[in-house]
Amino acid sequence: MKKPFIVGNWKMNLTLAEGVEFAQSLRNSLSNSNKIICGICPPFIFLKDICKILEGSGIKVSAQNIHSEQRGAYTGEISALMVKEVGCSHVLVGHSERRHIFGETDSFINSKLKAALSANLKPILCIGEKLNEREDGRTKYVVKNQLKDNLRGINADRIKECVIAYEPVWAIGTGKTALPEQANEVHAFIRGILTGDYGEDIADSVYIQYGGSVKPENTGELMAQPEIDGFLVGGASIKLESFSKIIEAASNY
Ligand code: PEP
Repeated sequence: MKKPFIVGNWKMNLTLAEGVEFAQSLRNSLSNSNKIICGICPPFIFLKDICKILEGSGIKVSAQNIHSEQRGAYTGEISALMVKEVGCSHVLVGHSERRHIFGETDSFINSKLKAALSANLKPILCIGEKLNEREDGRTKYVVKNQLKDNLRGINADRIKECVIAYEPVWAIGTGKTALPEQANEVHAFIRGILTGDYGEDIADSVYIQYGGSVKPENTGELMAQPEIDGFLVGGASIKLESFSKIIEAASNY
């Protein structure tokens, strides 16, 4: 049985002072907890300070994005090596906002995933269908294609280092959560694909998080699903009170 892995994605929120205070309080409040694994994804410019505050705490720090190249003439971009150097252990790859606002393609996401692994960062790969795709009955088709395209060319032994976040796009930031059974069905489907491609041991070891309007009130029923290994939380992760309640509710599983 895996410990739930709960990651908060701050997106483009909080000031540096607020982020620092959040990280210090999170460290203090989690000092006795060994029931869950927790992580946060601050904006790039906060990462160095926050990694210092959380050093040795077991709380993971993840970047929200990286470029697919490690260095070069890419004005405004940040590489996996840079993120690793300041102390991050994880990076989000393929978040729906990157796919749909910034037009990231599956092959670009695949390159970013490879860049993350080659810098020894663990990628949290976000996949999920849009509302019209669910309504047209294409959820599994979309999720399968994203998974296969985004993981293309990655060796089985490195798949163990990847986390998959199933995030139905229609549930992100909308207040609409997938029903626990709906989410579990897609998680089981994802696990089945991983089993077929990489074998049962590897598939079982991969964390599959759910993301999409997770809040303290729905954490328990989602966490009770056998295929849900944790959460990627957006809106409810930028207030310590709601994030702590999610962590507490998940700790009971
Ligand atoms: C997210 O951005 O990954 C997310 C799940 O957001 P929210 O929890 O706000 O739906």
